Amino acid sequence: MSDYPALHLLIGGEAISSDREMIEVLDPSTGEAIASLPSATAGDLDTALEHARTGFAKWRATSADEREAILRKAAGLIRERSQQIGAAITREQGKPVKEAIGETVYCAMLLEFYAGECKRLYGKTLVRPDGQRVEVRHEPVGPVAGFSAWNFPALNVMRKIGGPLAAGCSVIVKPSEETPAGGLALVQALHDAGVPGDVCQAVFGVPSDISEHLLGSPVIRKMTFTGSTAVGKHLAALAAQNLQRTTLELGGHGPVLVFNDADIDKALDTMAGNKFRNAGQVCVSPTRFLVEEDVFERFRDGFVERAKAVKVGNGMEADTQMGPMANARGPDGLQAKIADAREHGAKVLAGGERIGNQGFFHQPTVLSEVPIDAAIMNEEPFGPVAIINPMPGYDAMIEEANRLPYGLAAYAWTQDSKRRMRLASEIEAGMIAINGGTVSAADAPFGGVKWSGYGLEDGADGVTACMVSKTVHETA
Ligand code: NAD
Repeated sequence: MSDYPALHLLIGGEAISSDREMIEVLDPSTGEAIASLPSATAGDLDTALEHARTGFAKWRATSADEREAILRKAAGLIRERSQQIGAAITREQGKPVKEAIGETVYCAMLLEFYAGECKRLYGKTLVRPDGQRVEVRHEPVGPVAGFSAWNFPALNVMRKIGGPLAAGCSVIVKPSEETPAGGLALVQALHDAGVPGDVCQAVFGVPSDISEHLLGSPVIRKMTFTGSTAVGKHLAALAAQNLQRTTLELGGHGPVLVFNDADIDKALDTMAGNKFRNAGQVCVSPTRFLVEEDVFERFRDGFVERAKAVKVGNGMEADTQMGPMANARGPDGLQAKIADAREHGAKVLAGGERIGNQGFFHQPTVLSEVPIDAAIMNEEPFGPVAIINPMPGYDAMIEEANRLPYGLAAYAWTQDSKRRMRLASEIEAGMIAINGGTVSAADAPFGGVKWSGYGLEDGADGVTACMVSKTVHETA
């Protein structure tokens, strides 16, 4: 298709696409193949590792000014290309094209922030008498291997490559094979701006083979992954074999605490928009709505009304508000969880079904009064479903919010400033939005606690996560 690019591996600056096993890429709005993607051989991965080793020696020697200029130029190219990158993301992943363009522009913003950080990587000198000096230096950790998921084909990849490149590391990234074009376009923009081909590389293939191969090599000094908790634990164990430093951005099960003094209309407009963004396939998606009893009916009915009004369609159409889910696992998994919730006595107040038999569409869905032993109360649904349950008050809401092993994003709505302070300290999460829906910004650390992972991306922390300290004790 003309609006979907040709796909290849990018190893040592070379685009490789022939004589390799091919993987089909599907359009989730039709379920049909739109392109094929070459799979890296073991030899390709060895070549990439060797490039990463030599690329690291070269890139760490560049000045902060030079790295900053190149990363800024790449950010500019990503902005210039955002329409075409966004269209490719929609074709491979399904989200409305406006969201896909927004995701691409956000990648440029993040890269611009990282570019600025190149010049803010300070060490320190400890206080000592004359004749002695103790210097704490920060150095890039070394070649990084990044593995990312399909829900944000570009942003997940930018989070894997921006921090390492700013820190002076080389990076091999494996975007999702289901959504390769978004990430590949970012790597290409970096090359076009002057990042050497051996400093930033992209590979694809059988995910477990690639991670085993790359993490089995002592060349790789850091691993970073976005995806499910199960795969994150597996990769952490692999990385432990070579003691590679690790950043894990895993799943969540976002609680939303709505108190009786909240601005209910604002909470409804903000949270319903958030819930159905990217068909709910967002790690920070609001999922368990815990609503104080005296405002429960108003909130529930308002949410149902908004869910029913969401316009679902092909993401390429301008008026689409929610596209298909990204892959066949999406509606299949959601249907199983909704059936289980029904069996446990949950009420289905909106949606609940797939849409049509073409592509991976699912209705925006609202479940209410869902018992906590239903699977959907415990496992991340990763789809367009909101669970709205009445709660007796603060203590029960906090207990439920913290009940699960996840701790990524949480949301709370209340006008009471004392309560807001308690919430900020008592909710177990990496990020909390109070009276709003935003939990990420280019300069703000992004990451979770408990089974949602460890290590941070974005902000200054996204760069320091790719650095190690060395203390030099010097005597005159
Ligand atoms: P997954 O963890 O199996 O896959 C996510 C990504 O990891 C994919 O791109 C996949 O290619 C890659 N991957 C899988 N196994 C790998 C391995 N051994 N080595 C290297 N990379 C590997 O998740 P999924 O089946 O696509 O989705 C299942 C659940 O994962 C979702 O329902 C959701 O809960 C969670 N998820 C979370 C995020 C997030 O943003 N944190 C993103 C996608 C999926």
